[in-house]
Amino acid sequence: MSVAKKMLDLGKQSSVIREIFEYGLKRKAEIGVEKVFDFSLGNPSVPAPPQINDILKKLIDSVPAEQLHGYTSAPGDQSVRNAVAVYIQNTFGFSATSDLIYVTCGAAAGLTLCLNGLTTKEDEVIVFAPFFPEYKVFVEHSGAKLVIVPCNEHDFQPDFTSLEQAITDKTKAIIVNSPNNPTGTCYCEDTIKKLTEILNQKQKEFQKPIYILSDGPYRELVYDIELPYLPNYYDNTIIIYSYSKSLSLAGARIGYIFVSPLAENANNLFTAICGAGRALGYVCAPSLFQFLIKECIGLTVDLSIYKKNRDLLYNGLTDLGFTAIYPSGAFYLFVKSPLQDTKKFCEHAKKYELLFVPSDSFGCTGFVRIAYCVSTEQIINSLPAFEQLAEDFNLLP
Ligand code: PLP
Repeated sequence: MSVAKKMLDLGKQSSVIREIFEYGLKRKAEIGVEKVFDFSLGNPSVPAPPQINDILKKLIDSVPAEQLHGYTSAPGDQSVRNAVAVYIQNTFGFSATSDLIYVTCGAAAGLTLCLNGLTTKEDEVIVFAPFFPEYKVFVEHSGAKLVIVPCNEHDFQPDFTSLEQAITDKTKAIIVNSPNNPTGTCYCEDTIKKLTEILNQKQKEFQKPIYILSDGPYRELVYDIELPYLPNYYDNTIIIYSYSKSLSLAGARIGYIFVSPLAENANNLFTAICGAGRALGYVCAPSLFQFLIKECIGLTVDLSIYKKNRDLLYNGLTDLGFTAIYPSGAFYLFVKSPLQDTKKFCEHAKKYELLFVPSDSFGCTGFVRIAYCVSTEQIINSLPAFEQLAEDFNLLP
């Protein structure tokens, strides 16, 4: 039987992150769950707020089943889209219209729909490295060319000189992910101003719009800083949001796309996103969770737990002599590998049952990603293992 070769290859490629996670499951079965320090996966560990279950029960008891479990309009139920628009207006002071909001199955579907609605095979899409590995899959599947621009290695903020050189008359969009997976860095207002200044110049130079796809599933997971809301700074912005992390609803597959009404061709762009929704089968995101979102918009998980984990892990590892990027958001710590070969370093760490991911999976070498969306207890219990690891590489101060 012949199948699509491109998809066959994609299906066969194993994700390094998943491989390490599977290894962790096997090890846990062999030696016990509490003896394995698995920091591989970005699966939220803080439970969804208790109100979520209460609201779900209330919805199940009060909304007629045919409405609760039936189809909604393709871009989402109108009352849900209205609630999202009001939330954007009230929270970010930006005037949003519900007819430019498309409720999606998480940020992954949001990205796919935007890329397919926006790009053709002549177009280029810029990402900053390191980046969420699925960007490559999503961009290439849309037909566009992925252009990788490095970040500065000392703070993992965008390298603006490289960005200016990378933008061409083919650049259609740039994906901005702040708070960032895998580095945990956030882009402050100065960074956003510099970024948008460059994009505005390039739009003028090439006489065409360059869209920012703001991929923000970690938007609320910030610990010491204020995060700028991109549509307030740049007209050609499309927000891609999801409740996977802010409400720990990763399995519910719910989020939204919001096209700024100030974007060039905003209505056409939105219509093309709707077309991509049809073509890819992403119409009517799960109804039950659409209605849930309407009732709990603005609610988040207890963020103080991630902050506590961040502080414990960052302070713990840097005290042991590791060099790490101070993360002001998300739930990842990016740590310099003492070995040039990061895979080898990750393999070595397995000796102490420490599982984390080499940065090569994210398009950059020399680091490892440690996901601290785990129990605080796991972090505390893992520190002696990290100490042994530090000793092996003569890192201890
Ligand atoms: N974008 C980034 C940067 C992510 O880290 C993830 C998931 O981990 C996604 C998008 C996909 O999010 P969702 O689960 O909402 O599809």
